[in-house]
Amino acid sequence: MYRKNAWLKYNDKKPVMDFAEGYKSFISTAKSERLAVIEAEKLLKANGFKNAEDVKALKEGDRVYFINKKKNVAAFIIGKEPLEKGLRILGAHIDSPRLDLKEHPVYEAKGFALGDTHYYGGIKKYQWVTIPLALVGVVCKKDGSVIDINIGDDPKDPVVGITDLLVHLSADQLTKSGAKVIEGENLDITLGSMPLNEEEKEPVKANVLKLLKDKYDIEEEDFVSAEIEIVPAGPARDYGLDRSMVAGYGHDDRSCAYTSLMALLDTKKVNNTACCILVDKEEIGSVGATGAQSLFFENAIAKLAELLGSNNPLWAARLALENSKMLSSDVSAGYDPLYASVSDPNNNAYLGEGLVFNKYTGSRGKGGCNDSMPEYYAFVRKAMDEANVNWQSSELGKVDQGGGGTIAYILGNYNMFVIDAGIPVLNMHAPMEIVSKVDVYEAYLGYKAFLVA
Ligand code: MN
Ligand code: MN
Repeated sequence: MYRKNAWLKYNDKKPVMDFAEGYKSFISTAKSERLAVIEAEKLLKANGFKNAEDVKALKEGDRVYFINKKKNVAAFIIGKEPLEKGLRILGAHIDSPRLDLKEHPVYEAKGFALGDTHYYGGIKKYQWVTIPLALVGVVCKKDGSVIDINIGDDPKDPVVGITDLLVHLSADQLTKSGAKVIEGENLDITLGSMPLNEEEKEPVKANVLKLLKDKYDIEEEDFVSAEIEIVPAGPARDYGLDRSMVAGYGHDDRSCAYTSLMALLDTKKVNNTACCILVDKEEIGSVGATGAQSLFFENAIAKLAELLGSNNPLWAARLALENSKMLSSDVSAGYDPLYASVSDPNNNAYLGEGLVFNKYTGSRGKGGCNDSMPEYYAFVRKAMDEANVNWQSSELGKVDQGGGGTIAYILGNYNMFVIDAGIPVLNMHAPMEIVSKVDVYEAYLGYKAFLVA
């Protein structure tokens, strides 16, 4: 159903509301790409998927997954057709904009211990001050141990945060442009204010380091080989008096990651091998070993071909990729009536109207986008309508207003059919993003329909 309010389809809204509970609990836990992989693996195991490392051979109907460096998952259901006939792929990213602790982060200034950060992904820096923040990540020690850090999400935990100037003394600050009103180097978190007894040099910093030493057995130098992400603290919440929406951190793109994964988990028999891939580093260009540009995915398909008995798995993987169809599961900009001027209302996504297809994204004349083939778009429309899924079409804002990209073009490089399909979001990249529960549910239904189309 094209461009209709999806709520109207449900006399009984319970399936939509129940699905949102599972999603809320996923994003409330999966605050980092590593935590998302841990949650995804739990769900995969509970739904009969086996780690490919433990598999000797594969056949139709088998359920298997690969994990790459604790930050990517590629999960598959083996189809009836040979792999070379192509896969049905749902691909989403599990990294979200945030702040990262620097390598040498802790310093003391006038009675405070502070933590220096470097932001990750595109953020409006002024949105990240004066809110409760949590620390999630790992510290890797020279002895090979990996210490998990997760402070601030448990209501009994302390939180950290970034200060902003009191309004009484902001005369100069408030004349600055939005981009400069909070500077990147001022995004430093407050870690403490209590001095260590009998310590003369930097006693507050010494006290914080002692706490970390006592609790986690880590030294200051260990921060060099650490990955500690500073993210909004606390769980996702119902939003709106009617509870129709979810407010939370990381809807971009964990809303599409969760719905894509659930679509695969809830699928039984497939004609073409079905896949859900979750990648890292989308927010900084999909680069590196765990981003969409990594050879991990291609290698996983080759390993799959090998486990299926191919005598030329690399070539089989190439053919499989070339003949594949993919939904690049990524969020889109929902129409915000308070900021109507940045949208073309006829070509914008609306909260409540279901799964959004973006034929193209990009900026300045579609630059950097994957402009999807109309032949393929027609195939996808048919699949959505036959499954009675509510869906809509959109551009990312008005022409020349800005823009953005996804992983679509990277998988498109394999010469497969790809189109962006995701959930409309308000406040994208803010610490608190908003999605509609019914869009989350329609995305799940749409992704499921696609896997068997
Ligand atoms: Mn995204
Ligand atoms: Mn993004």
